[in-house]
Amino acid sequence: MSMSMSKQALPLSTPVAVIGAGAMGAGIAQVAAQAGHPVRLLDNRAGAAEQAVAGIRAQLTKLADKGKLSPEAAQAAAERLSAAASSAELADAGLVIEAIVENLEVKRALFRELEAICGADCIFATNTSSISVTAIAAGLQRPERLVGMHFFNPAPLMALVEIVSGLASERQLADTLFDTAAAWGKTPVHAKSTPGFIVNRVARPYYAEGLRLLQEGAADCATIDAVMREAGGFRMGPFELMDMIGHDVNFAVTKSVWNAFYQDPRFQPSLIQQELVDAGFIGRKSGRGFYDYR
Ligand code: NAD
Repeated sequence: MSMSMSKQALPLSTPVAVIGAGAMGAGIAQVAAQAGHPVRLLDNRAGAAEQAVAGIRAQLTKLADKGKLSPEAAQAAAERLSAAASSAELADAGLVIEAIVENLEVKRALFRELEAICGADCIFATNTSSISVTAIAAGLQRPERLVGMHFFNPAPLMALVEIVSGLASERQLADTLFDTAAAWGKTPVHAKSTPGFIVNRVARPYYAEGLRLLQEGAADCATIDAVMREAGGFRMGPFELMDMIGHDVNFAVTKSVWNAFYQDPRFQPSLIQQELVDAGFIGRKSGRGFYDYR
């Protein structure tokens, strides 16, 4: 992994817009505000952006209370953050990072709308986990300005950011986002827009083989998790990890990679996980997944 100096990083005066104030959008907005950018957060669910801004401010206060951030820095970051009421308020953004629902058509429609609002030099970034960056960019007047900027959950804590170039993406913009992520204290890596990019691709067999072992009755979840953690050296076993990510998200990524490879059996989604999704037992966030958190 090559770290470069922040030679092409966006200046801290560049306004950053984050669209989608869910788990990822809120985390990314926090990272950008802590780095020093003015940040606007937008969501199409009424009250969601304001709620996320309040949540981030509470996080910043907590960091200051724990001594991980000076009270002045926490205060300044909080002041740099605000909720936007509509996309029209994002006209001055130099970088828009999209973290909305994982759906190609919805993401495409959003970027088409932004093209009519944002300046010609505004960089468009998508935090998609599994949709082709090439496909999201297609249909834009300037597809070269769209690049993947894939953070991991939780964005303020996870160092890695995959900078994902689609077929049309301009290399110089990918370099700018690479250097910007580095300036934000992250560890960026360039990747091409292939299904699952790097991490979500390499991780697929970890989940898939765990699920196959379970289906075959080789051992129970807790045993497989313990073996991978204690003997395998992984921080988490596959089942506890899927419960943490959320089966809705994890299953959707698996289906997306499977379909992208023309339903290659290597990536075939698991019926056991399908059942969990159908039941709404989607992991920690719902109180129940492979394990019971209630
Ligand atoms: P989430 O459901 O927590 O948040 C999505 C937010 O986007 C919601 O608040 C929703 O109201 C809003 N939204 C939906 N459509 C919108 C639109 N058209 N305009 C404005 N706001 C809209 O989801 P998340 O987990 O934060 O994921 C967001 C994106 O990040 C997805 O593309 C996902 O694949 C990707 N991602 C998720 C993770 C993860 O572990 N959760 C990790 C990396 C990337």
